[in-house]
Amino acid sequence: MMCIMLCRAAANTEVDLTFYSCAMNEFIFDVKNIRKDFPILSQEIYGKPLVYLDNAATTQKPLSVIRKIEEVYSTINANIHRGVHRLSQLATESHEEARKTVQNYIGAASSKEIIFTRGATESINLIAASFCRSQCKPGDEIILTTMEHHANIIPWQIQQDITGIELKIVPLTEAGEIRLEDVEELISSRTKLISLTHVSNVLGTINPIEELIRLGHNYNIPVLIDAAQSIQHISIDVQALDCDFMVFSSHKMYGPTGVGVLYGKETWLDKLPPYQGGGEMIAHVTFAKTTFNELPFKFEAGTPDYVGTTALGEAIRYIKNIGLDNIRHYETHLLQYATKKLLQIENMQIIGTSERKSSVISFLIKGIHPYDMGMLLDRLGIAVRTGHHCAQPLMDALGIEGTLRASFAFYNTEKEIDILAEGIERVVKMF
Ligand code: PLP
Repeated sequence: MMCIMLCRAAANTEVDLTFYSCAMNEFIFDVKNIRKDFPILSQEIYGKPLVYLDNAATTQKPLSVIRKIEEVYSTINANIHRGVHRLSQLATESHEEARKTVQNYIGAASSKEIIFTRGATESINLIAASFCRSQCKPGDEIILTTMEHHANIIPWQIQQDITGIELKIVPLTEAGEIRLEDVEELISSRTKLISLTHVSNVLGTINPIEELIRLGHNYNIPVLIDAAQSIQHISIDVQALDCDFMVFSSHKMYGPTGVGVLYGKETWLDKLPPYQGGGEMIAHVTFAKTTFNELPFKFEAGTPDYVGTTALGEAIRYIKNIGLDNIRHYETHLLQYATKKLLQIENMQIIGTSERKSSVISFLIKGIHPYDMGMLLDRLGIAVRTGHHCAQPLMDALGIEGTLRASFAFYNTEKEIDILAEGIERVVKMF
């Protein structure tokens, strides 16, 4: 961040920041070349260059990921784990290699702690079902926060009906932040788990998860981190964090859809019962009794998406090549640039004003419905998201129905932010 700011001060302010280079401390971010890796970005929509600012919903895929999917289907496709033949062995190796890539990416102690799922949503459903069934009795409590995505609310509500647990909800400050003392106030002798998002998909707030995990552990309470909106922006080391569970989705980190990850400490995963039953997750089956496979397979019933996991491995290699620290620097710069630019627009209200934010901006323009603005921006080739962003309880707390949301990835540019701001001004004039 510092470097980017120094570059800005040193350079002509009219400099083309689609190529961003700083000789002072070797920081180079070549977004122009990076964009060439993403074929979808060079498209036109309604005759206008696509400005894709919906990255919190899903990210675009680099050619290396797209090609990896084609390569697996073209060369080694076969069902994994049970095959004695060569193709099955190669596909199995590729899937298990991807597990190790994920393990290294998040700093997990063992690849047994990496469970492949269909996405962050399925990962939370897995823990909610398995944890509540085995660890909770009626009246036990799970702590969530007001800013959770529905994926971290509904699975617990389903368990509320099945096991009789109760949900305690942490309120937010004006700026859209969580205060440690508000979490601590909700902790009781019945608290069984704290489950919260690392980064809000609406507010962009980066929660102080290090302190929150420590707080939970002070009371012997495990903590689940929903990293769906942070894994692609912020370097994460699960052992340093000491979180008990973490979930995320491949499609939000430049990988394919339909693949997700559940990280769990081995001690916890060993204790928890399987979520789904079927092939792969068993050791031995009779009609009288079934014994289950070892970790991680105990939680992976049925044929996994081994093509998708292999492509996720490729996406992680792509991210690592650019470097998460470089990504964070550049995206923080985009966030600051966009915030400044949008605030120059009359009647602009930014929702979520935490000091610690990821590259997500939710906003409203007084007198214009977000949906109308979103539709008209679309006609200008600008893709933003409108609505409640799967966070209706947060919308209720804010007293609004929805927002517009622009979310940035490392392939976005200042120029695209200028186009967004000009587009909004144009729509405002129409109204
Ligand atoms: N958690 C957060 C914070 C999210 O933003 C999302 C999706 O937007 C999810 C969970 C669910 O992710 P998925 O739909 O990929 O399972």
